[in-house]
Parts: sequence; structure tokens; C-alpha cells
Amino acid sequence: MPAPLISDVLPDLLEEMVYLARQAGADPLEGQLRALKIESVCDCGDENCASFATAPVVKVANFVELQSMEGQLIIDLNAENEICFIEVLGRPDVKYLLEEYYESASG
Ligand SMILES: [Zn+2]
Repeated sequence: MPAPLISDVLPDLLEEMVYLARQAGADPLEGQLRALKIESVCDCGDENCASFATAPVVKVANFVELQSMEGQLIIDLNAENEICFIEVLGRPDVKYLLEEYYESASG
């Protein structure tokens, strides 16, 4: 299965992150955010976790914490300043959409 675009699976979360990244002074990330693909969903098993990898290799060198109204959103960047992982905690809305997408995709 090819990696889906975040704009297809989580369009609302994408707009929220773009908005919050601007607030955090990280607006140069907007172009990257809009092109992100969901490579794999975090398998830590935590009920609150809806995090996902956006690169085949996740090597976190830096991060941008967003001031989300609900839950916790953190953009993880690698040494090349490329987004490699999105930490999403305490966001049942995001978890629901991810589960729904992967269930329907697997038939
Ligand atoms: Zn997790």
C-alpha cells in the first residue's frame, strides 16, 4: 500500500498544524507539512497515542512543540530539518480517523 498523504487522511489536523506552526514562528515548515505522507502509524500501543512517521527513517534531531487547544502535537525533525515524525497525544479524533483509514484500506 502506498503511503497516503496527510492531506487526504487528516485534512483538519493538517490545517491545525499549519496554523499552529505559524503561531510558533515555524512557518517555513508549511510547504513540508502540506506534502507529508503517513509512512507508518506508531505501534507503541498507548491508548492516547495517534503519532505517525512521515519518513521511512525516523532520526529525531530537533522538534517544534505546537500549542494545540487539545492534546499534544509535536513536529519531529531530522538533522536535515525534514519532518520525520508527528507526535500526536490525547487526540481521539485523530486516532479515530487513522484507524478508520487503515481498516478500510486493508479491506
Ligand atoms: Zn505511540
